[in-house]
Amino acid sequence: MGTAIMVGAGIGGVTAAVALQRCGWEVTVLERADALGEVGAGISVWPGAAAVLAEFGVKGVEQAAALSGPMGLRKPSGRWLVGAADLGVELPVMIHRAQLHELITDQFGPAVTVRTGYPVETVTQDETGVLVNGELRADLVVAADGLRSAIRAALYPQYAGPQYSGYTAYRGVSEAQVESGGETWGPAQRFGVARLVDGRTYWYATANQPAGQSGDLAEVIRRYGDWHDPIPTVLAATETALHNDIYDLPLPLVPFAAGRIALLGDAAHAMTPNMGRGACTAIEDAGALARHLSSAPDPVTALTRYDAERRPAATKLVKRSRQIGRVGQLDNPLAIGARDVLVWAGSSVARGAAALRRKG
Ligand SMILES: Cc1cc2nc3c(=O)[nH]c(=O)nc-3n(C[C@H](O)[C@H](O)[C@H](O)COP(=O)(O)OP(=O)(O)OC[C@H]3O[C@@H](n4cnc5c(N)ncnc54)[C@H](O)[C@@H]3O)c2cc1C
Repeated sequence: MGTAIMVGAGIGGVTAAVALQRCGWEVTVLERADALGEVGAGISVWPGAAAVLAEFGVKGVEQAAALSGPMGLRKPSGRWLVGAADLGVELPVMIHRAQLHELITDQFGPAVTVRTGYPVETVTQDETGVLVNGELRADLVVAADGLRSAIRAALYPQYAGPQYSGYTAYRGVSEAQVESGGETWGPAQRFGVARLVDGRTYWYATANQPAGQSGDLAEVIRRYGDWHDPIPTVLAATETALHNDIYDLPLPLVPFAAGRIALLGDAAHAMTPNMGRGACTAIEDAGALARHLSSAPDPVTALTRYDAERRPAATKLVKRSRQIGRVGQLDNPLAIGARDVLVWAGSSVARGAAALRRKG
């Protein structure tokens, strides 16, 4: 078929490499870090992304770990606002990021070449192909270089780039076993718990604060250590916490295609993690890109079709995730009271609709 260069070996870049390899492309993955792999804690893989992974032969994300206890939304006291069980909503598979990354890269065959310790500095193109760092030629480049994509910045210098959400996030993996899961919403902060496929517990937490402050596990215990069970138990069996300020990209998003260069994953549509969809959307991008490259007469047409399909879908998720974050991070007691009533009322309607669906 053709030759492609992936810039970035995050979940987006490696999935795109596997997807294009499956369609007969020769792929070179360029990663500036010295080794392949992901740090991080858990990650949710929703059914759409799991289907794409399955299509490209990635196994291990078919089935979510079962919980015997309830799931849903709670207050820090432990009072339930909404139970997930009656709502008939689909639940994602929760898996450790490093494990997911490895399951994907395990599918690399001879058509995929990986170069680590290789920072991409320039990408130029003409009618016949692309040139990376003045030395590597290919038919197309996939910029999967993340939130602070240098390729996006070079293509669209007027675009403002990442904007701070107003809140920060902590994540960790605990050796404690949980039987219930879901999110707990307190004033201006949230805590979530889920069981990973390997039986360990993934937790995450958010808090309103200015960007750039430091944070560690001690800070997490100070903030959430007196919330309801199993949060104290989960934190007590955690060794370390990751800390990231939360950013997303301003709307409207820039086009995901510029000639022979495609933007994919966070480079194209970094979103706040409130729906747990960022990496899943990158995986779905990879599936769409491979499909269009297989059916279009040439790469430029394929990338134009890819942008037309993926940009509207990603725009909705960026917007929706941002809205959920605003509601979840409310700090005014009156607004929180009104929100909780609305959440409860909305869930009652959804529960009724789910019951009707089950009967019908
Ligand atoms: C707290 C938190 C929780 C989240 N939870 C979930 C979740 O549960 N489910 C979900 O689907 N998503 C989740 N996300 C979102 C998800 O992490 C991202 O959407 C996803 O990791 C993006 O993958 P990517 O491959 O596009 O970018 P990245 O993972 O950022 O990878 C970019 C890669 O490009 C490399 N790179 C950058 N510049 C260059 C260069 N110039 N040359 C060479 N290499 C370069 C980087 O080193 C990096 O390896 C979460 C995000 C956060 C912050």
